[in-house]
Amino acid sequence: MVKAVVGANWGDEGKGKITDMLAAKADIVVRFQGGANAGHTIVNDYGKFALHTLPSGVFYSHVTSVIGNGVALNIPILAKEVKSITDRNVPAPKLKVSNRAQMVMPYHILFDQYEEERLGGRSFGSTKSGIAPFYSDKYAKIGFQVNELYDEEALKDKLRRVCEVKNVLLEHLYHKPLLDPDELFREMMQWRTMIDPYVCDTAAFLNQALKDGKEILLEGQLGSMKDPDHGIYPMVTSSSTLAGYGAVGAGVPPYEIKKIVTVSKAYSSAVGAGAFVSEIFGDEAEELRRRGGDGGEYGATTGRPRRVGWYDCVASRYGCRVQGTTDVAFTVLDVLGYLDEIPVCVAYDIDGEVTEEFPTTGLLEKAKPVIEKLPGWKCDIRGIRNYGDLPENCRNYIEFIEKKIGYPITMISNGPGRNDIIYRD
Ligand code: GDP
Repeated sequence: MVKAVVGANWGDEGKGKITDMLAAKADIVVRFQGGANAGHTIVNDYGKFALHTLPSGVFYSHVTSVIGNGVALNIPILAKEVKSITDRNVPAPKLKVSNRAQMVMPYHILFDQYEEERLGGRSFGSTKSGIAPFYSDKYAKIGFQVNELYDEEALKDKLRRVCEVKNVLLEHLYHKPLLDPDELFREMMQWRTMIDPYVCDTAAFLNQALKDGKEILLEGQLGSMKDPDHGIYPMVTSSSTLAGYGAVGAGVPPYEIKKIVTVSKAYSSAVGAGAFVSEIFGDEAEELRRRGGDGGEYGATTGRPRRVGWYDCVASRYGCRVQGTTDVAFTVLDVLGYLDEIPVCVAYDIDGEVTEEFPTTGLLEKAKPVIEKLPGWKCDIRGIRNYGDLPENCRNYIEFIEKKIGYPITMISNGPGRNDIIYRD
């Protein structure tokens, strides 16, 4: 059977930790979308790791890690990441990379930078990893699949054609140095050497694994709000962040996805631009940012301070719905132990009208949070393993939010480690 671990919000909900934890019982962990633009932080017996491309199952020797066809594959970054974990005594991962995955080209990264420069103040807050230019090319049908590395003549020819188009933009729109197709070809031949041990038809592998009764975990990146269709367009990412897309980006039958674990953090954080209704500022924000996550709310890829805010029931209810949630994993709850009162955003006020429905982007930008305050529990809840042992106000907070979002919170994460988890029946 297939389980998906996905985000309800803007990303950084703690999916890495939940995937790492669930991977203990899985056979295969698959990345199905996105690229090296966001990071997962994982704390385990080997230490603390920030992964960008490798699935979060790589720390278990029984797990096969798969980079699916839907991923934006940056081969040098993947190679570096494999080295960075093996250098720290993690056994070499059993890794498989889809022969249909497309590759992030050096010019995708350049175009990402040039476009942000050109947009100036109107930029999207891109991580400049080449993700938007990559997916644009994929759907414009001028991307490169991994299997194309093995047909040298066809590759040279296509590189020449693609560079012709790119060079027009580089010369006339961005006024930047032009691309040399021969140089790109040489670089890609080095990539072939790096990736060759891992390349296979991963969809065929996964379908066979399902026939053999194996358990597969699909690991999502970012969250519902960043989905290009259902999120806060255009302040979204360029590939679908939804569990449903897992079927496409991994190549498994949609009806095999039986469990959708949607991860939602006990407060909100976001990176990049875009409406963020429950955002807070000033000292109040600085304190939450400093105490947040595991070592503060700063981007795993960029180190940028994350925007922070109170829990947003409107966005989370919608975020859980678009994922098709069966279970909610409620994370980073321990961080809120310092507050006397915990504000929660329970509705939006849009031009004087109060709603619990998540609106489209234009209206979202006008929304003001309707806040309710719940009493805090004022103690450290790390180390607690049974739901009943949590302070009453803490359970009230969880149950209040569960009722508001309308999906069962079956897991509560009260620390960054693998064992910091409370299961609830
Ligand atoms: P992801 O992209 O969804 O995997 O999220 P990140 O890994 O970027 O961000 C989550 C951060 O919170 C990481 O630093 C985790 O180590 C940390 N974390 C995850 N769960 C918990 C938790 O329950 N409590 C605390 N304090 N930190 C957590």
